[in-house]
Amino acid sequence: MLLFNPIRSTQESVLKFHSRKGADKYIMSESSGNKVKCDLYIHNIASLVTCANPSKKPKAGAELLDAGEIKNGAVLTAGDKIIKAGPAAEIEKYISDNKISPARRIDAGGKTVMPGFVDPHTHMVFSGSRENEFAMRVEGKSYIEILNAGGGILNTLKSMRTISEDDLYRESGERVLTAFMHGTTSMEIKSGYGLDFDAEIKTLKVCRRLTQESPCTIEATFLGAHAIPPDYKNRRREYIDLMINKVLPYVAEHKLARFNDVFVEEGVFTAEEGFEILEAGKKLGLIPKVHADEITCCGGAELAAKTGAISADHLLMASERGLEMMKKSGVIAVALPGTLYSLLSKNYLDFERLMKIGVAAALATDANPGSNMCINMQTAINQAVCLMRVPPAAALNMATINAAHAIGIADRTGSIEEGKQADLILIDGASYNYIAYSYGVNHVKYVIKNGVPYQVESALRKL
Ligand SMILES: [Zn+2]
Repeated sequence: MLLFNPIRSTQESVLKFHSRKGADKYIMSESSGNKVKCDLYIHNIASLVTCANPSKKPKAGAELLDAGEIKNGAVLTAGDKIIKAGPAAEIEKYISDNKISPARRIDAGGKTVMPGFVDPHTHMVFSGSRENEFAMRVEGKSYIEILNAGGGILNTLKSMRTISEDDLYRESGERVLTAFMHGTTSMEIKSGYGLDFDAEIKTLKVCRRLTQESPCTIEATFLGAHAIPPDYKNRRREYIDLMINKVLPYVAEHKLARFNDVFVEEGVFTAEEGFEILEAGKKLGLIPKVHADEITCCGGAELAAKTGAISADHLLMASERGLEMMKKSGVIAVALPGTLYSLLSKNYLDFERLMKIGVAAALATDANPGSNMCINMQTAINQAVCLMRVPPAAALNMATINAAHAIGIADRTGSIEEGKQADLILIDGASYNYIAYSYGVNHVKYVIKNGVPYQVESALRKL
């Protein structure tokens, strides 16, 4: 059986994706009677980047600049958990003291091991692509001109309403698998391209299937308030009522999403409407998130703080007051530099400002067909470093532990610490700085998810 059964793409024939069985077999040291189990011993790691924060809180200010690097490290895992990580000498002593014989060894070859990436903001479940409108944008066409030519969100909406659940699953699953091969071991996925009852629920059902059948950890977000669809153009109130009274209760009842997101922006949803939708979700147990202040300053950051959102994302135009309110309420700021890059922006979120205010920051791709067709967190790191001037160590924290906090999974993953899920990646570089420095290729050689190692191979095959 294939690792990820429904996917039969050309990608699979080019990049072999191995599920190495045996992670369920524990090796016990019989001679000593010791019960220390170990499935995997990763050694010869030049740079072990833990991204751990002793306080267990999201990293902010100076903490962001420390990636928790251990030079010459090693990691032991058993089952789906990390049982020991630290300096090689310490781990070797632990192995010998406890007479451990690991079931499998991975020689990191003097390279870097770090936590698997967590992508805390994606719209990964969608159908079709919109490269033609991207080309129009590059030519200088306005958003309205693109819309009139059949582009924009309506383009995706049409295909989302007609595609079958199985086809949507296959199309999105390929994307999730590609992200996994590029080191993303956990991600958030939003609905918000269907914008009616059936298509929104279909999207979230696909998210659920991906959670169950892909190797990735997936947290789903309901984003019914992504836009007012054309069929509700003059019935705005009716659309909001539909979301609040019909779709949200169904999503909550069937546990189809953990988060509830709103796109608060001029011409989309007002902060007041956002408040109403987020509070309605809270009553049903959904945690708020906000697409905040992306194009204009319209109270998104303040709304996130007021509703106790777990994160506010975009924030290019956020007010000083809004960011300060976010810091006080513990809302995480999610930077999406790839979106601004793809929208040909000259401005990027001011990282220095986030540092000064002390708001915790995370990093995401915003993978979506309209404004950033990129699923690769390595690219997001390069963009954060080059375009936002984020120091590489901070970018790694933002792409792992803080990203895990932004989707409520930091107790399980996002850092290399004893007891956490063994979600690790081996990077083909002797220092973590390599990830941002060398861009445009996949640096991930191994992905270890829940203790199961996958080797990412690329081979040139002469035909
Ligand atoms: Zn988004």
